[in-house]
Amino acid sequence: MTKQNVIASAYFASDDVIFAVRNDESSKGLRVDRLASAERKRPGHQANMEEDLNTALVGIQRLMKEGEALKAVVLICPGPFMTINKSDLEDYGKIGRNAEVKNWRQKNPKEAFRGLLLQAFGDEEGRKPVIYIYNQAGATAVGEYMRLYGDQIRHADSPGKLLKNIGSHLFVVADASIDAALITDGEPYHGLSTMNVGHHAVLPVGENPATLDNLQCAAHPGRPCLNSLASLNAVKRRWPGTHYEDFKASDDLEKLSLIAFYIAQMLANVTLTTTPAKIIIGGRIVDNPHMTNFIREHLVRLLQDHEWPEIYPGYPDLQTPDDFLQQQEDRDSGVKGGLHVLARVLVKDNNKDNIASFDAYKKGLFPL
Ligand SMILES: [Zn+2]
Repeated sequence: MTKQNVIASAYFASDDVIFAVRNDESSKGLRVDRLASAERKRPGHQANMEEDLNTALVGIQRLMKEGEALKAVVLICPGPFMTINKSDLEDYGKIGRNAEVKNWRQKNPKEAFRGLLLQAFGDEEGRKPVIYIYNQAGATAVGEYMRLYGDQIRHADSPGKLLKNIGSHLFVVADASIDAALITDGEPYHGLSTMNVGHHAVLPVGENPATLDNLQCAAHPGRPCLNSLASLNAVKRRWPGTHYEDFKASDDLEKLSLIAFYIAQMLANVTLTTTPAKIIIGGRIVDNPHMTNFIREHLVRLLQDHEWPEIYPGYPDLQTPDDFLQQQEDRDSGVKGGLHVLARVLVKDNNKDNIASFDAYKKGLFPL
């Protein structure tokens, strides 16, 4: 009996490993589930790449049905990656040495996952699945974009025109670090190395020097950045003992507004640069129910033209701030977006050595 090919995706969040499986040739048969990450199982301990990769494989096997074969898998890893230069055989596929998730630094998740596949499926079957890696903000952007517009794009007479009308969309993941990806005319602005907005320079306001000393970014201690002032890691350093659950439940409006202000500074700069039609923000920072509103208020204030009474006339989308800045709705967008990218790679790119979907990504973003 011929086996049904399936493709899989795994997203490594700080608290959960999220995984998904679907048929390789259609979006039918989508299954999604999650298991606790190594970090959540042992609070206070660091992330553990090998353990989380193993959790992903166990989860994927659990979602697969009798008679199904794993054709390809995409691992949606913490970034940035070491290089996007495929001819760099030494470093291609490795996580960057400055990755925020320290235990993934300079490791090669593709090689490690191959080892696990060989253990689980044996020498012959374990070699078959193609393994890709992808970046978290990029996968989330694709997943959310397809959630918002997938049906319209599928049924459009003229998809190119529709994509132009939809306009650019900025997707932000504000979590342990802060990343973003821009989709413009249906295609990501970057494929693999999405926008590293976490290291954007932002202006500290009302901070005392001791706080700024404590919050220095290891990559560039000389200037404050968004990650160093307003990521979930920054929250933990600012207010020792404040963990995610405390931040999520916090009613300290002054503190929350300060964090939101820094995120809004980055959003204002990106808006002035790329003029998105919409911004979608996700990640655990916006799990606090006040945050999205605060960020929206600061953003409008920062972009308001005080010489003219109306909101910056060059940015008509800002006239409706609730529509312009929205919160990510689907927590599984990252793992679903990864599957979508993977399906496209398999159809559009026959280069099996292409572990990232960088090239295929440039060929458009249409659902299968
Ligand atoms: Zn930085």
